[in-house]
Amino acid sequence: MIVVLKQKATRAQVDAVIREVRKLGYKPHPIIGVERTVVAAIGDERSRHTLETLTALPFVDQVMPVQRRYKFVSREANNKGSQVEIRGHAFGGRKFQVIAGPCSVESERQIIETARAVKKAGATFLRGGAFKPRTSPYDFQGLKQDGLKLLARARAETGLGIVTEVLSEADVGLVAEYADVLQIGARNSQNFSLIIAAARSGKAILLKRGMSMTIEEWLLSAEYILSHGNSKVILCERGIRTFENMTRNTLDLGAVAVAKTETHLPVIVDPSQGAGRADIVGALSRAAVAVGADGLIIEAHPSPQEALSDGAQQVTLPQFFDLMTGLKPFIRAADRL
Ligand code: PEP
Ligand code: MN
Repeated sequence: MIVVLKQKATRAQVDAVIREVRKLGYKPHPIIGVERTVVAAIGDERSRHTLETLTALPFVDQVMPVQRRYKFVSREANNKGSQVEIRGHAFGGRKFQVIAGPCSVESERQIIETARAVKKAGATFLRGGAFKPRTSPYDFQGLKQDGLKLLARARAETGLGIVTEVLSEADVGLVAEYADVLQIGARNSQNFSLIIAAARSGKAILLKRGMSMTIEEWLLSAEYILSHGNSKVILCERGIRTFENMTRNTLDLGAVAVAKTETHLPVIVDPSQGAGRADIVGALSRAAVAVGADGLIIEAHPSPQEALSDGAQQVTLPQFFDLMTGLKPFIRAADRL
């Protein structure tokens, strides 16, 4: 950390900063300039008390970190990039993985029909919410355990792995009994007690970026999972809230490129929540391949106009098939399989 003192700080004030830095476990190294004095604090910032509190001193101008705040997820920890293997499918390898399925599990017929169709189109995992985080308490909340059972039936039928959201710490055990991948949704991606409980389940975790989360905050949420002993994390960009209203969210593909340089974890894209409209899901999927994403999670439904959640953004099953066909040349061009 670098502690920058205000101009005209006195020697006594510099000494006060030096004392505080030492007290917090760092080795102080003052650099006295003509205009200003800075005190470099030497020590691992990740395992020591933060020095940011020093900004409370009236003669301190700013405190700047020189190290990143995350270590396990940092690219430095694994420069090659890590692969998360689930049911024999690796995320983060050469194969571009596609997860697809309805926003919500609604009925046996709906989920089985969808599972068969998305598998035929090339998806390797089935998504579907059994516990739904809805903005209104009057909207469909999901089939809960019955929905999980239907997902398990779809897996038995097709062999597709199951990705489904866990909304609360109390449900982690139940959801983990059925799912191959626990999804932590955008509304919960800084719910650290839920994240820690999910990490402890030992299941792979799909960590969405929160809708108003910085990339650093997103990576620090992932750091919670790795620092609790679970390295099976897949990051998912799903759009952030901006002033734009012709899309539901603003899909931040720049964040995908940044995440791929900052962390070794696989990063996938959710163009469905990102767009909020089915007509541009294909275009955003192709863009995701080009920017270096490791996969996609796409909402597809046999009859989107009848969907109990997110109808406007779900593609039909034939549209999903066409989308996957259209994606192939882009996957090849990106040197992926
Ligand atoms: C979803 O995948 O249906 C969902 C609710 O996603 P998010 O948490 O990204 O909004
Ligand atoms: Mn949805």
